[in-house]
Amino acid sequence: MELIESVKAALASTAPKDRPANDSEGAYWCDDCAVRIRDADLEGEPVCPDCGAEMRFERSTGRDCAC
Ligand SMILES: [Zn+2]
Repeated sequence: MELIESVKAALASTAPKDRPANDSEGAYWCDDCAVRIRDADLEGEPVCPDCGAEMRFERSTGRDCAC
C-alpha cells in the first residue's frame, strides 16, 4: 500500500485546490429572492433561477460604502 499512498500524496500536492483564490471576483444577487450566484459559477446570462429577473453584480472584495 506504500505505492498507493505515495501516488495519493503526489496527486494531492499537485492539486490546484489549495489556492485560496478562485476565478470569482464577486457574485450576482437577486434582491427580491436573496439569491446569490458566484460569477465563476454562472454560465450565460445573470438571471435569477427563482424569478428570472436580471441579477445585480456585487464584488465580494473592496466593498464601497456610499454613505
Ligand atoms: Zn429572484
